[in-house]
Amino acid sequence: KEQIILAERPTGTPDKNTFKLVETDSKQPEKGEVLIRTLYVSVDPYMRGRMIDAPSYVAPFELNAVIDGGAIGEVVESKSDQFQSGDVVIGGYGWQTYYTAKENEIRKIDKDIAPISTHLGILGMTGLTAYFGLLEIGKPKEGETVVISGAAGAVGSIVGQIAKIKGAHVVGIAGSDEKIQYLKEELHFDDAVNYKTTANLENDLAKACPNGIDVYFDNVGGEISDAVHAHLNKFARMPICGAISSYNLEGEDIGPRVQTTLIKKSAVMQGFTLGDFADRFPEGTVALAEWLQEGKLKYQETIKEGFENIPDAFLDLFEGNNIGKLLVKVAEL
Ligand code: NDP
Repeated sequence: KEQIILAERPTGTPDKNTFKLVETDSKQPEKGEVLIRTLYVSVDPYMRGRMIDAPSYVAPFELNAVIDGGAIGEVVESKSDQFQSGDVVIGGYGWQTYYTAKENEIRKIDKDIAPISTHLGILGMTGLTAYFGLLEIGKPKEGETVVISGAAGAVGSIVGQIAKIKGAHVVGIAGSDEKIQYLKEELHFDDAVNYKTTANLENDLAKACPNGIDVYFDNVGGEISDAVHAHLNKFARMPICGAISSYNLEGEDIGPRVQTTLIKKSAVMQGFTLGDFADRFPEGTVALAEWLQEGKLKYQETIKEGFENIPDAFLDLFEGNNIGKLLVKVAEL
């Protein structure tokens, strides 16, 4: 079996030297264990934070150990009463072609409600992040304006659609014309702004948000967020989901102070991690699956093929080379 390990801790943007593909033997399953053949592997921006040795809400990756993260596979051998060969399962076992899992490390997924890959995206981690972050912290009301940065990505594209379901005026910020077109034409966002080509993001946001901004779902931080903050309405809510613009910075991310804006606007900024809502995952998954089946939610995946291409796929996140959830397909079911 093959694994991709963390070969060195990156400073700045990770590159090919950060990772190494190695071959190891796979362990025969013992009682209560199953052998899984990997089908899909998730690459996610939060993994960048785990590559350095600093305290966070998840432990750092260990050097020379497999990079773990969301993965979907097929049970090919079972010594467990709970699973049988052919079951499709999801777990956090990461970048490896085979894995011998204990039964409490994995859970079965339903192959029939939607393509299995959706359990790493819209029906999984990123969909739930959009659902709880927007509805529990953003709390959009009908007619309010919701702005989303990283809007064409896995989380952002779902946030915007849920905000539309709730009757909001929805504006996305993303980094290519193809993404802007996707947001407006496919997902029916009311407007979208390309932050890479705009002459003045603050002015473009003023045009796109004539009634100001009530909810800002922040995936990126940095200068994009500074421009959004200029248009906040009184009592604005800001779920702080991610800050990808700073993940590869070597120094501190210095910018304008935000406190006086928060005071003047009685605005709330609240960071969160999906784990804060762990006891409510079933509720979120049911709601997302229902909207999907009713055609109220759409999703797109950017799928790279081949186990050896996982590091490239991960680096694509920082280049913006994905629309919707970025996944690597390792094998056919
Ligand atoms: P995405 O699918 O959104 O992929 C990342 C996107 O970020 C890229 O496509 C790119 O789009 C954009 N991007 C990359 N670099 C920059 C930059 N320097 N400035 C602005 N935009 C940039 O990833 P996810 O949907 O999985 O994650 C989105 C955010 O949510 C991340 O910050 C992530 O860490 C966070 N997150 C937080 C969770 C939580 O529990 N709090 C859970 C899951 C995700 P573009 O072309 O528009 O630049």
